[in-house]
Amino acid sequence: MSPRGLFKVSFRSRIALLFILLIAIVQGAAFFAVLVTVRHNIMARANEKLQSGARVFQQLVDDRGAQLLQNVRILAADFGFKQAVATGDTATIASALSNHGARVGAGVAMLVSLDGEVMASTLGPGAATRSFPYSQLLKRAEARGDAAGLVSLGGRAFQLVVVPVYAPLRVAWVAMGFKLNKQFAQSLQDLTHLNLSFVTLGLPAGSMRPVSTLPPAVLKALAARTLPRKHIDGVHIIRLNDEDWLTLSVPLLDGGRMRALLQTSSNAALAPYRQVRVRLIALSAGTLALFILGTILLARGVTRPVSELVSAAKRLGQGDYSEPVPVSSDELGQLATAFNQMQTAIGEREARIAHQAYHDSLTDLPGRNLAAARIGETMKDGRRAAILLMDIDRFKEINDTLGHQIGDQTLKTVAERLRHNVRDDDTVARLGGDEFMVLLMGADEAGARKVAEDLSRYIAEPVRLGDVTLYLELSVGIALFPDHGNEVEALMRRADIAMYDAKRARTGAMVYRPGRDERHLEQLALMSDFRRAVDENELRIHYQPKARLTDGEVAEVEALVRWEHPTRGEIQPDDFVPLAEQSGNIRWLTEWMLRSIVVQLREWSDAGIDLAVAMNFSAFDLMDPALAEHVESLLKLHEVAPQRLMFEITETAAMRDAPTAVALLRRLRRMGLRIAIDDFGTGYSSLSQLRRMPVDELKIDKSLVLNLKPDSDDAAIVRSAIELGHNMGLSVIAEGVETPESLAMLKQYHCDMAQGFLISRPLPAEDFMNWFMQYRRRSTPLST
Ligand code: C2E
Ligand code: CA
Ligand code: CA
Repeated sequence: MSPRGLFKVSFRSRIALLFILLIAIVQGAAFFAVLVTVRHNIMARANEKLQSGARVFQQLVDDRGAQLLQNVRILAADFGFKQAVATGDTATIASALSNHGARVGAGVAMLVSLDGEVMASTLGPGAATRSFPYSQLLKRAEARGDAAGLVSLGGRAFQLVVVPVYAPLRVAWVAMGFKLNKQFAQSLQDLTHLNLSFVTLGLPAGSMRPVSTLPPAVLKALAARTLPRKHIDGVHIIRLNDEDWLTLSVPLLDGGRMRALLQTSSNAALAPYRQVRVRLIALSAGTLALFILGTILLARGVTRPVSELVSAAKRLGQGDYSEPVPVSSDELGQLATAFNQMQTAIGEREARIAHQAYHDSLTDLPGRNLAAARIGETMKDGRRAAILLMDIDRFKEINDTLGHQIGDQTLKTVAERLRHNVRDDDTVARLGGDEFMVLLMGADEAGARKVAEDLSRYIAEPVRLGDVTLYLELSVGIALFPDHGNEVEALMRRADIAMYDAKRARTGAMVYRPGRDERHLEQLALMSDFRRAVDENELRIHYQPKARLTDGEVAEVEALVRWEHPTRGEIQPDDFVPLAEQSGNIRWLTEWMLRSIVVQLREWSDAGIDLAVAMNFSAFDLMDPALAEHVESLLKLHEVAPQRLMFEITETAAMRDAPTAVALLRRLRRMGLRIAIDDFGTGYSSLSQLRRMPVDELKIDKSLVLNLKPDSDDAAIVRSAIELGHNMGLSVIAEGVETPESLAMLKQYHCDMAQGFLISRPLPAEDFMNWFMQYRRRSTPLST
C-alpha cells in the first residue's frame, strides 16, 4: 500500500475530524481555563483563610498574654518579693519565683536585672549567670511597661511575659514563660479549623517532636522531615502523607528557627474544586459526544449527495446510465441536476456511437462485429443456425462503370430486399463492400438452401435506378451450426470459403464441404512458401503448342507455370495462382515468368527456332503501371523481337478495370506485342466493351470446347464466338481440343487455331522441343 493510501481518509471523515478536533480544542481550553480559575479562587480563599487564621492566632496569643501579664504582675507587686529583690535575698527570690510560677502554671520564671542579666531562674543556678536571651522583649517592656511574646526555649514554644519590679523605682524584671501546649493549639483549631503546629526548621529528620493539632499520621510525616531553614513567606504547599497541606508559617518573636505553622489540607480545600472538575469533565465529555454525533450527522448530510454523485459517476463509468442521482434543493442539488443531464447526454451519445460502431452507415444493417456477436449468442443458446454469406457478383463493375452513387443505391436495395425476406429473429448484416450475411435461426441444410435460393431470386429481380436497370446475381456460401464448427470465426470463414467456391463454380449457392477449410488453410500455408519457391527456382514452365487449323503449322506456344514443391510434388497453377493473386504474391510469378520466357525466346532464336510465346496475365498485372516499361527493357536486354511475345488476359480481368487495362494494352500493342482475350465465353463482356479492347486474338474457353458436339448449345456459342471474332478483325483460337470431332467442327467453323491435348499436352521446354521437331517432320500434322 502506498503511504498516501495509508492516510487516505474520506471527505466525510475529514470534515468530521476537523470539526471534532476544533471542538476538542475549544472544550479543552475552556475546561482548563475554568479549572485554573476555580483552583486559583479556591487557593486564594484558602490563603485568606490562613491569613485570617494567623490573625486569630495573634489575637489568641495576645489575649493569653494579657491574662498571663495579669498573673505575673501579682508576683511583681508582692511586697515580700519586692523587698527580697531590693535586698538581694536570692533564696527568697528563688522560692517566690518557683512558688508563684507553679501557681500560675509557668514553665519557667526568672528575675532579670535592668541591664539584662539573669539574676535568678527556676531553670537552676547555671542559668542565673547568663544574660537574658530575649532582649527584644526587654526593649518592648522598657518602652511599654511590660511585654509578652512567643519565643522558643529549649526546643519548645513558650509565651514569655516580662513585668517590671518597682521598689519604688524599677529595680528588675520578672520574666515567666508559659508553654504553648496542645490545648492552646486546639483552641485555635476550634476557632479557625486550621491546624497549628510548632516546628523547628533545619532539625535533622526524626528529631523533632512538635506540638500540633495535626492528625497523628500527618504529624508523623511532618516530624519525619527536615524543614528547610530558609523561611518561606506567604502560603505554600507541603506534601505530607500523600496530601497537600496549604501552609502559612509564622515566625516567633525571638527570630529563632521555631515557627508556628498554620495548615489546612488542600484536599479539604480543593474538595469543591474537585467536584467542579468532575462536573466539568462530565459536561465536556457530554458536549463533545453530542458534538461528535452532530458532526457525523452533518458530515453525512453534506457528503451524502457527494457520495451519491460519486457512485453515480462510478455507475456511469460502468456504462449504466439508467439510474438518476437524487436531487436536493441546495448547490449540490444543482450539481446533481447537471450531472443527471450529463448522464442522459452521455448515455444517448454512447448509444448512438454504439449503434454507429455496430451498424453500417449506408444500409443501417448490423456490421461485422455485431453479426459475429449474434452468431456467438446463438451458439451459447445452443440453437441450430445457418450462416449465409453472400456477395453480389461483379459488383465492382457496377461501381466502376456506373459510379459510386449507383453502387450505394444498389447496396441499399440489396439490403432492403434481404431484410424484407427473412423472419424477424433472423439477422441481416453487411460485412463490408458488397458482402452480406444472413443468420438464419433454427435452419438446417435444406432450409438454408431454400432461403438462399429465395433470396437469390429476390435479388435477381431487376433493380431500376433512374434510367439504369441492373440485373444482380448473388453468390451464397452456407455454413451450418453446429455441423460446420462451433466457433464464430471458423464458421464465418467456412461460409466465406463456400461462397468463393460458389462464385468460382458459378452455382449460385453452395454449402460448405467439410475438409474444404483444411485445404484452404493448406493453401494459405502454401502461400507463405511461395516467395521462397520463386527465389529457389522451384517454378517450371510447360509449353503447349497452338496449331494453325489451315495447315497445322505451330508458330506459337502458351507458357503455363508449374510448381515443383520439394515435399508436395508438382502443384498445378489452379491450386496456387488464385491464391498468389489474393495474397499479393502474383507479381513475383509474373516477374519470374516474364524473365524466364524472354530468356527461352532468346535461346530458341539462337537455335534458329522461330516460335512466339503467349504468357498469361493476371488481373493484378493489369494494374501495374510499370509493367510495360519493364517488358520493354527485358526484350531489349535479351534482344528479343516484341512480336515473339504475346499476353493472354482473361475476359473478366480485362473488363474489371477497363480504362487502366485498355491504356496498358494499347501501350503493349504499340510496342509490337500481341494480346489475346483468354477464357472467352465465361465472362459477361458486352460487344461494345469488347470492341474497345485493343486485342489481336480471341481465345474460346475450353469449357465450351471440351464437349463440343454438333447441334449442341456449345456448338452454337463457339460458332458465333468465332464469327464475332472475325467480324472484329480478330484471329480466333479454341483451347481444350481433346477430340478429332471437336477439331473437325472448329475447322468447319473456320476457327483459326486450336490448342489442346489432342495436339499436345503442356510439356517442359526440352520435351516440347522433341515433340516440336517430330511434329515438323510430319507431312499432315492435323489431318487426324
Ligand atoms: P488457361 O490460361 O485457360 O490455360 C489453359 C489451361 O487448359 C491449362 O491448364 C492447360 O493445361 C489446360 N489445357 C490445355 N489443353 C487442354 C485440353 O485439351 N484439355 C484439358 N482438360 N485441359 C487443357 P493449366 O496449365 O493447369 O493452367 C490453368 C490456369 O492457370 C490457366 O488457364 C491460367 O489461367 C493459369 N496460369 C497458368 N500459368 C500461368 C502464369 O504463368 N501466370 C498466370 N497469371 N496464370 C497462369
Ligand atoms: Ca491462357
Ligand atoms: Ca482457359
